[in-house]
Amino acid sequence: MDRNRKVTIIGGGPAGLTAAIYAARANLTPLVIEGYQPGGQLTITTEVDNFPGFPEGITGPDLIDQMHQQAERFKTEFHNGEVQNADLSQRPFRLTIDGEEFTTETLIIATGATARWLGLESEKKLMGYGVSACATCDGFFFTDREVIVIGGGDTAMEEAIFLTRFASKVTVVHRRDELRASKMMQKLAFANDKIEFKWDSTVADILGTQEGGGVTGVILENTKNGSREEFKCDGVFMGIGHTPNTAVFRDQLKMDENGYLVKAEPGTSRMEVQGVFAAGDVADTRYRQAITAAGSGCQAAIDAERFLEEQA
Ligand code: NDP
Repeated sequence: MDRNRKVTIIGGGPAGLTAAIYAARANLTPLVIEGYQPGGQLTITTEVDNFPGFPEGITGPDLIDQMHQQAERFKTEFHNGEVQNADLSQRPFRLTIDGEEFTTETLIIATGATARWLGLESEKKLMGYGVSACATCDGFFFTDREVIVIGGGDTAMEEAIFLTRFASKVTVVHRRDELRASKMMQKLAFANDKIEFKWDSTVADILGTQEGGGVTGVILENTKNGSREEFKCDGVFMGIGHTPNTAVFRDQLKMDENGYLVKAEPGTSRMEVQGVFAAGDVADTRYRQAITAAGSGCQAAIDAERFLEEQA
């Protein structure tokens, strides 16, 4: 495998794979660096019903698999490994992947963001069985059911408001008695009569079994006095934030206070460092959809191709 590339893409989710399809079709033989669990957040969703072109829906892993095959068809090469170090101080950029050195003229960063989870055993067990971190993906399955949303930021409010389209009742469980969300989002959430709030509360456990049809309730713990109560619900949505996967680029690329990449020119994929492009959730706190990630992957590949042409 050639370790010196014109285009290297880090990330094997919809952003990275779409960038690969476009770069490969531009004859740039891109290399995609995938982590050890390729596919990103889509691989932990079940049914994807909002990706155009699949009228019957498709599972997240199948969607990734098809994008992968499509990228391979145009001679994209894949390498599994973790980027331990990236030197973006001069071109070609240098990447250290599992101790081996790679160089690349352009770099497309599509490393995504990882939803934060509570870290409960029951949460892992019931993921896809009533536990979700994506209301847009899974909300529809909770039509006329009662759900909770954990968190007090904009993500939690957005998820709660969205879920009221389907659920009969949405209870926001927040660990303090004051929301972190923007005033606008707070106003919308408070005005929605399907949304109730459980203040000063965390979820200590999630009840239910896969065999028994999934989530049946949660154990709420009061953060002030430690008292516990059982709370019945059919679904649990995490809204406690995401962590962008950008640690390896710290101090080299512009990021916001939460570590999301900040593009040099909004509406493009260009970063301030010439030859570096960002695609997908790693630079997106607003949309976070498979289709928007795929669209921005396309932009990044076209931006990289044009950049290489300008350099020629
Ligand atoms: P935030 O970090 O803003 O909020 C996370 C929330 O989850 C906080 O209320 C926090 O509580 C709570 N939380 C964190 N960890 C735990 C835990 N272990 N147990 C219980 N609760 C927990 O993340 P968001 O994803 O909401 O937002 C990230 C950024 O994206 C923000 O800048 C936001 O404005 C932006 N955004 C914008 C949107 C829009 O404009 N439409 C939509 C979504 C996000 P506490 O408050 O106590 O720390």
